[in-house]
Amino acid sequence: MTSQKAEAYLQLGRSCRLQGRLSEAETALRQALECDPQNGGVRFELGALYLGQNRFIEAAAEFERAIAIDPHMKGAHGQLGRIYRGQGRSSEAEAALNKALELDPQDGGVRFELGVLYECQGKFLQAAVEFEKIIAMDPNHGGAYRQLGRICRRQGRSSEAEAALNKALEFDAQDGGARFELCVLYESQSKFLKAAAELEKTIAIDPNHGWAHFQLGRIYRRQGRLSEAATEFERAIAIDPHDAEAHLCLGQLHLRLGQWAGAEAEFQRAASLSPDKEGAYIGLWAAYRGQERTVEAGAALAKAMAITPMSAMACTELWDRLDRDRAIGGDVKEPPRERVFCLLPWMHLHVRMDGLVRPCCIWRGPPLADIRASSLDELCNSAGMKALRSDMMSGRPVAGCGQCYEDERFGFRSMRQKKNIEWAHHRGRERLTAPDGTLPRLPAVFLDLRFSNACNLRCRTCDSTQSSAWAADARALSMRVGGGPIQKPYDDWDRLWRQLQPLLEEGIEEIHFVGGEPLIMEEHYRILDFLIARKRKDVRLHYSTNFSTLRFQDWDVIGLWSHFRNVHVVASLDGSGRRGEYIRKGLRWEAVVANREEMLRRCPDVVFSIAVALSIFNALHLPDFHREWVEKGFIHCDALALNRVLTPEIYRTQVLSAGLKQQVLESYQRHRESFLDADGIPARDFAAAARFMAAEDRSGLLPEFVAMTRRLDRLRGEDCREVFPELAALFEATE
Ligand code: SF4
Repeated sequence: MTSQKAEAYLQLGRSCRLQGRLSEAETALRQALECDPQNGGVRFELGALYLGQNRFIEAAAEFERAIAIDPHMKGAHGQLGRIYRGQGRSSEAEAALNKALELDPQDGGVRFELGVLYECQGKFLQAAVEFEKIIAMDPNHGGAYRQLGRICRRQGRSSEAEAALNKALEFDAQDGGARFELCVLYESQSKFLKAAAELEKTIAIDPNHGWAHFQLGRIYRRQGRLSEAATEFERAIAIDPHDAEAHLCLGQLHLRLGQWAGAEAEFQRAASLSPDKEGAYIGLWAAYRGQERTVEAGAALAKAMAITPMSAMACTELWDRLDRDRAIGGDVKEPPRERVFCLLPWMHLHVRMDGLVRPCCIWRGPPLADIRASSLDELCNSAGMKALRSDMMSGRPVAGCGQCYEDERFGFRSMRQKKNIEWAHHRGRERLTAPDGTLPRLPAVFLDLRFSNACNLRCRTCDSTQSSAWAADARALSMRVGGGPIQKPYDDWDRLWRQLQPLLEEGIEEIHFVGGEPLIMEEHYRILDFLIARKRKDVRLHYSTNFSTLRFQDWDVIGLWSHFRNVHVVASLDGSGRRGEYIRKGLRWEAVVANREEMLRRCPDVVFSIAVALSIFNALHLPDFHREWVEKGFIHCDALALNRVLTPEIYRTQVLSAGLKQQVLESYQRHRESFLDADGIPARDFAAAARFMAAEDRSGLLPEFVAMTRRLDRLRGEDCREVFPELAALFEATE
C-alpha cells in the first residue's frame, strides 16, 4: 500500500516538474519518500528536479542515494558523471560515466559527456574514440562530428579536422561551434580566404554576429586590408559596445596608421572595460609616445608593468613593429646607439665545444675568454667582454657583430633585435655598468653552453667541429679534423658542474641546448634532472635539435619536459622526405614525422618551430616544405626561421645560376601572395632571403660546389641530381 502511494506521489512529482511547477514537485516527491524512503526512482526524480534548478550538491546527493539503493540505475550514474565533471571532479566523473556506459553502451548522451571529459583532461585519443563510437551508432550526429573535428584540430590532424567539421556543418549549417572551429583551423593553416569565407557565411546568416565581425576584422588585418579590418571592428563594437577586444584591435589599427588620437580613444575605452588587462595600457603607451606625451606614456607603462612585469618587452616589440611599418614608408630614424646596442653581453654566456667564450653564437670576432682558464664570474668581466660593452654603450659599431648588422641590412630580424625584445626586462643592467664596461656581480641569466660536438648526423652544410659523426667523412676527403671526433669545452666536468650548480639553483632564466645534438648528450639530461629535483620548473628550456630522436639511454625527454612550464623545441630541418634526408645525412624522415606526431599527442603545449638552414640545395623547395608542414598541422605558419648558410661559401644561395635564382624568386613571390600573411614574419623572411640571394653573384663558385658535391656523393653513395633535379643543369654546365 505504502509503495503504491509512493508511486502515485512520484508520478505527481514528475508531472509537476515537467510542467515547471517546481515547489509542488518537490513537495510531492518528499511525500513519496515519507511513504517509501528506499524508492530509488523517487531519489532519481528528486535529483533531476534539483539538477534542473542548478542545485548541484543536492542533486548529486540524491543520485548517490539512488545508486546506493539500485547500483544498476544507469541514468543516475550518467547524471552524477555530468555533475562531477561540472564540479571539476574528473576522476569521479570518469568512473561514473564509464559505469553508466557499462550498463548501457548505446547511451550516446553519456558517451558524448565522456568524450568532452577526456578532451578537457587533454586525453585527445580517448576523446576521439568516444566521438567515433557515437558516429558509428548514429552517423547523423552532427555534434559528435563537431567535437571530433575540434579534437583533430588540436592534435594537428588538419585534414581529418576539416572533413569532420564540414560534416558537422552539413547536418546543421547554423552550428556556430563547428564554424568557429573551421575558422580557427583555416586561420592556423594561413588559409585566410577560406577562413574569411566561413565568417562571411556566418554574417550572411546572422548580420548581428559580433564575434564573426571581430574575427573577420582580424583576418583582414593579417592580410594587410587595414581599412576593411577597421570597418569590421567598428561593426563588432556597434553590436557590442562593451567588446574590449574589438576596441583594442581598432586601437592597434589606428596606431599602425599613425592615427595617435584615434588609437588613444580606443585604448582608453578598452582600459575602462578591462582594467585588469595590460594590452590597453601598452597601446596607450605607444599612442602617447607617438604624440611625444612622455609623462603620460610613462604612467601607462607603469600600469601595464603593475599587471604584467614583462610589459616592457611587449612595448619594445610593439614599437619595433611600428618602426617596421614606418620603414616600409621610408621614415625610420634611429639613434646610433640603438643601432648597435645588444643586451646579450650583459646577461648571456655562449661557450663553444672548444671552451672559448663568445657573447653569442653568431659572433664573428675573436673569442673573449676561455672557460677552462676562468670561473664563470671571471668570464663575465674579461677584458674582451668589458670592451664590447663599452663600445655598445658608446654607440660604436663592433666588428664581431657583423652578422647582425648584415641581417638588418637585408631586412632579416637580427638576433640583436630579437634578443633586445625578448630580454627587455633586463635593460636596467646596462645602467649599472661602469664606463669601461665592468659589470657588478650579476649572474648570467641566459646560458648557451655547448657540451660537446656529439652528433648522430652528417649534414651537408656542417663539419667535424660541429658534428662528431662528420669526422670519418672529413678524413676520407682529406679535410682537416681538429683533435679526436668528440670535442668538449671542459677538461674537468666536476669543476664545471660545481660552477654551474649555484647558477642553476637561482639566477638562470633560460638555457639553450645546442649541439652537436643535445638530445643525445648526458650533460643535458643531468641538468634537467637537477632542475627537476630543485623544482625549477620556471626555467625556460630552448632546444636546437636535429629532431632525430626523443629518447636517450633511459631518458624520455618528453616526460622530462612535462616538469617545465616553458619549453621551445626548434627543429633543424631543411626539407621534406628525401630532400631532408639528403641534406641532413643520417636522418630518417619517417622518424621525424613520428616524433612530431608523438609531441602533438603527449606534449601539445611545448612550443615547436623549424629553423631552416637556407642553402643552394633547398632554396627552391622551401615554400613547399613550409606549406606542407603548416597544412599537416605540424607547425604554425609563423613558426619558421630562415637562417642563411654563409659557410662553406659554396652552399650559399648566392652561388645559384641566374636562371635558378629567377625560379627561386618566383617561387617565394607565389608563396608570399598565395599563402603567407602579408604582415607576418615569414613573409618578411622570405623577402629578405630573396634580397640576400640577389645581392651578389657568386656563381663563380659553382665548379667548386659541383666538385665537392660529387666527392661527397661518391663517398655516401648518393646523387644530388636525383634528389634535386633542378640542380642537374649546374653539374652539366661544369662538365
Ligand atoms: S649584436 Fe648580434 S653578434 Fe653582436 S653580440 Fe648581439 S647578437 Fe651577437
